[in-house]
Amino acid sequence: MSKYDIIIIGSGLGGLECGAILSKEGYNVCVLEKNGLFGGCFQTYTRKGRLLDTGIHYIGSLDEGQILHQYFRNFGIMDKLKLCRLDAEGFDRIYYKQKAYDYAMGYEPFVETLCRSFPKERENLQRYVSLLKEVGSLITVDNLKQGIISKEGMKFFGMSAAQVLSDITSNPDLQEVLAGSALLYGGVRDASTFYHHGMINNSYIEGAYRFVGGSMQVSLELINVIRSNGGTVRNNSEVTRIIVENEQVTGVEINHEEIIEADYVISNVHPKRTFELTDKTRSIRNAYLSRINSLENTYGVFTAYLLMKKDSCLYQNRNTYLHGTQDVWYDKQNHLGQVNSCLISMQSPEMNRRFAEVVSILTPMHIDELREWEHTTPENRGEAYRQFKKAKTDALFDFIEKQGFALDGEVESIYTTTPLSYRDYTATVNGSAYGIIKNYKCPQVGFISAKTKLKNLLLTGQNLNVHGALGVTLTSMITCACLLGEEYLAKKVGNA
Ligand SMILES: Cc1cc2nc3c(=O)[nH]c(=O)nc-3n(C[C@H](O)[C@H](O)[C@H](O)COP(=O)(O)OP(=O)(O)OC[C@H]3O[C@@H](n4cnc5c(N)ncnc54)[C@H](O)[C@@H]3O)c2cc1C
Repeated sequence: MSKYDIIIIGSGLGGLECGAILSKEGYNVCVLEKNGLFGGCFQTYTRKGRLLDTGIHYIGSLDEGQILHQYFRNFGIMDKLKLCRLDAEGFDRIYYKQKAYDYAMGYEPFVETLCRSFPKERENLQRYVSLLKEVGSLITVDNLKQGIISKEGMKFFGMSAAQVLSDITSNPDLQEVLAGSALLYGGVRDASTFYHHGMINNSYIEGAYRFVGGSMQVSLELINVIRSNGGTVRNNSEVTRIIVENEQVTGVEINHEEIIEADYVISNVHPKRTFELTDKTRSIRNAYLSRINSLENTYGVFTAYLLMKKDSCLYQNRNTYLHGTQDVWYDKQNHLGQVNSCLISMQSPEMNRRFAEVVSILTPMHIDELREWEHTTPENRGEAYRQFKKAKTDALFDFIEKQGFALDGEVESIYTTTPLSYRDYTATVNGSAYGIIKNYKCPQVGFISAKTKLKNLLLTGQNLNVHGALGVTLTSMITCACLLGEEYLAKKVGNA
């Protein structure tokens, strides 16, 4: 029977980053992935020779000296990634009431660009970016050098994003425009925290990039790091049980047959699923499990991938958010079965290419739209599901046309995914895009510590703190700090 220092369940960004950090520190790690393809949401698959990204369209804070750049540099992967910096004059374009507003990169350009549409709002916009900077300053490279992964930001978790925007400006259009990319954090007026809004928007305003050739390059590079440090990374290895003996985790069962042992287990899987896999133990109380099980998750996403005919669609080096309602925040009542907003993102396989190869269109989708197919598995959902996806795609096209947005180019073929795809491939609860909701009204409730009551079972990944490339990286650090110590790890990464 194999024995490791640390088993990591799941090869999403969180699992691979923990594997890279801990293997570099001399731990003998083994990362287990249930799917054939590694990477979870950092996974790119191929259809008709085109690369389709599952869960990453752009990432932020990647300029030199910025926080994600420093993390990737520490992993030794930064120089290996093929990236394209999005348009500085407008990395995001928000269409609201059929007018276009650009988010420019850099704090001053951001303010200046929006001032063209809202000339009386300069001071308010400056206050807004100051607040974003304040949230961003919780996780700087300087903090790392001082031995701190993240300064305490609880006050921002207790602030409503929508409320902060309406305190910043009384102009209702500007409030909505500033919330225009809320799809990035599953934005809900009544729940979203200013921490999430601030952390994510700040990171893109600092330095927004798109992967050229798919986000999976991050996963593959991290796997190289783990393997070159002597670690093991296995695919087609679903953990079917986390074994507990005498109130200690002793190992895991893989694919219902093989057992491997370890001193520690780190789960990159949704906490609800993690505890479903864990043997019953006195250490993990029912009250804790009930709390985890009762936590709400963000809505999911329907994605239509348009495979474009060669050289027919001009590449746009930005993301476009279209809003068809006055209120840009997601509201289940109004959105169920409807298309009210979408994000359009283009991929080109090469740097500086003129044409897009794939256009991804994302729109929020709640699992309730898919109850009819709840008990089905991929490839076996039947004709009605295919028709449902076709109707949703048609509604998406109708919506885009109604907004007066012209999608140029000729579509060769279309592939679609729904929250059920995410539920079945990444094991996220209800196909939620970003996992457990953090609600500003009760910020403590949605918080899950990396440590569990079982001393050698740790958690990591998007559900703990913040999702996305930056949030998950931060959480990987917090998880690994449980074994290595925060000061030691932070200083090491900060000075890398
Ligand atoms: C549609 C969409 C678009 C997004 N766009 C962006 C974006 O543009 N920018 C950004 O920063 N973020 C984006 N995100 C969010 C980002 O992709 C995620 O927050 C992040 O990748 C999650 O990483 P993770 O490691 O926590 O989990 P995951 O990527 O979900 O990884 C979990 C892994 O565990 C594996 N697993 C599950 N159960 C088992 C088991 N029993 N045994 C073994 N393995 C198991 C899964 O197969 C998976 O590989 C997007 C997300 C979605 C859904």
